[in-house]
Amino acid sequence: MNPVRQIAFGYSTQCNIKCGHCVAADASPGTAKMDFDRAKDIIQEMARCHVTGISFTAGEPLLFFDDICKLIQLCREKGIYSRIVTNGYWAKTREHADRVVSELMSNGLSQLRLSYSRWHQQHSNRENIVHAALSCQEHALDYFISFVTDFSKKDDSFEQFLRDHHLKFFPEPVIYFGRAGEFDRQRVFTDYRPNVCSMNTYLSPELDMFACCDAANRFSKTHFLYLGNLRNDNIDTLFRKTETHVLYHLIRTMGLTNMASYLGFKAREIVQYRKCELCEKLFNSKENLSILTKSATSDLFNWRR
Ligand code: SF4
Ligand code: SF4
Repeated sequence: MNPVRQIAFGYSTQCNIKCGHCVAADASPGTAKMDFDRAKDIIQEMARCHVTGISFTAGEPLLFFDDICKLIQLCREKGIYSRIVTNGYWAKTREHADRVVSELMSNGLSQLRLSYSRWHQQHSNRENIVHAALSCQEHALDYFISFVTDFSKKDDSFEQFLRDHHLKFFPEPVIYFGRAGEFDRQRVFTDYRPNVCSMNTYLSPELDMFACCDAANRFSKTHFLYLGNLRNDNIDTLFRKTETHVLYHLIRTMGLTNMASYLGFKAREIVQYRKCELCEKLFNSKENLSILTKSATSDLFNWRR
């Protein structure tokens, strides 16, 4: 059976706002944008390689509205599910939101993901999210609101705002990478959960491909998540790399907790890590990576109940 191939597509890292928690903030120096014709070629190649879903993300994709419309049109032609992740800056009025949503629909967009948080909303009126969501409902465009939160009380009024407007939303834990890397964070005590991660492949505007879109090139000591660059390798080769990498496989199936336990992390310590922090502890250390790599097909593989 062919593996499911989906990718977060970073057309550009340019954004019109500067959220305090932005994970993309230090992903690449300055802002970068993919060449439009190159992006078209890549999507065509992705279709040949059986990619079934593309999520346009990175900075704010709709700053390049005409280009993105053409790219989602191409996705529709090729039978690829398309999603845009946006901060909703364009939905200043309901009329404007209706125009944008209807144009995205007519070009074949499958889903809109609206990013919302106390950090986004320092730069963009939260009513924008209501306008955008209501326009999606009216035009029958599938959408959801990604409510980025650190689960502190400061976010209660933001959550209540969504509830008051009867809007569909999903809380998404803030990831302490990028600008959020500097944040104070509360200690967490989770139950002893497996910390399995599905890992979302990411393509940057510079054509670098990574096994994870949230950490991308941030594991700088080991480059554990780096797959390669499309100037040197083709898409199929890089997808195969992520599909056949034994440690990625274990992240998706066994989970990070078992691997940490195998390395000797105390259970008491493991329950204090957020998932991506634990991932960084395991794989942004040359020593840990070496042990895990050597044992991946033997002792580690059998380290389960
Ligand atoms: S979190 Fe999203 S909207 Fe905010 S600065 Fe980063 S890319 Fe822009
Ligand atoms: S757990 Fe690791 S692979 Fe998964 S999103 Fe976090 S950093 Fe990426």
